[in-house]
Amino acid sequence: MNNKTWVSSVIMLSVVWVSSMSAVQAASDESVTVYSSREEHLIKPLFQAFTQDTGVKVKYLTGQDGSLIERLKLEGVNTPADMFMTVDAGNLWYAGSQDLFQSVKTDTIKNNIPAHLRDPQGLWTGLSVRARTIVYSTDRVKPSELSTYADLALPKWKNRLCLRTSKKIYTKSLTASVIYNQGKDKAGDIISGWVNNLAATPNAKDSHVMNAILAGQCDVGLVNTYYYGRLIEKNPDSALKLFWANQKTTGVHVNISGAGVTKHASNVAGAIRLLEWLSSDKAQAIYGALNKEYPANPNIALDEVVSAWGLFKQDKMNLSQAGVLQAEAVKLMQIKGYR
Ligand code: FE
Repeated sequence: MNNKTWVSSVIMLSVVWVSSMSAVQAASDESVTVYSSREEHLIKPLFQAFTQDTGVKVKYLTGQDGSLIERLKLEGVNTPADMFMTVDAGNLWYAGSQDLFQSVKTDTIKNNIPAHLRDPQGLWTGLSVRARTIVYSTDRVKPSELSTYADLALPKWKNRLCLRTSKKIYTKSLTASVIYNQGKDKAGDIISGWVNNLAATPNAKDSHVMNAILAGQCDVGLVNTYYYGRLIEKNPDSALKLFWANQKTTGVHVNISGAGVTKHASNVAGAIRLLEWLSSDKAQAIYGALNKEYPANPNIALDEVVSAWGLFKQDKMNLSQAGVLQAEAVKLMQIKGYR
């Protein structure tokens, strides 16, 4: 991209620029440029460590998923981005469906990251794992009463359940996994049951779900575990605990944050090098600890806080299904009145 085009596109889309302008000058061969919907404090330490190890600089900008995807589409072949990094397999799948990634299949990535956390075509790979599981009030619920996502649809949880809005990609991906594991009819029954059991209108955020439980509005909910980690770090005495769902059946629904090399990357080799490095032992240990997530690479020791929650069996559904079944999940939630 020439400077003029670069400047005009920056002006046009300045609203999505969060990082400093100096960080995103036109890409050179020596650097890798990343568009990321992960916040700066979660990616900067990784990029710094990568540069220390390899000498390759990383330029990045952060923004919302949707804005960055639109930006990549608009920029087309002129994009300075060599890599797109985001959260949730649903978002990664969508970016892949818009032809924004190129296939990368290397032995390093294959050896480091389990297959269910990678796109089968190699368009994107998971780099950290987030588990979406049951959170409960230790005052009003015994863990022996809990078992599965489907169990939360039973009448015993009437007016006791809090859920996040169906508009959030996390909910769409979880529902896609319920459809994948249970079939559409059973999934429909489960969603109906959840809706019937709601103690309140679905919450905008996972933290609101936990606050509602703490306030006595409901007794159980579903959250990504790092939100629980943040809450418990601030208030260690909170009367809330995590419960690993579906341990006797399909396993806990997991999702990823991940990345792919953009279709029009000008530094493909550098982007692949960064992607491989992010899957390495060193990067994976940092990755997990930064956001109280789980390393995607299963051989890495867990962060101290995270390991206190215990080990669990993961759902091994290939996460591309979160995208493939997304439209069906949205439709089913609409039909069943999940707002
Ligand atoms: Fe989140």
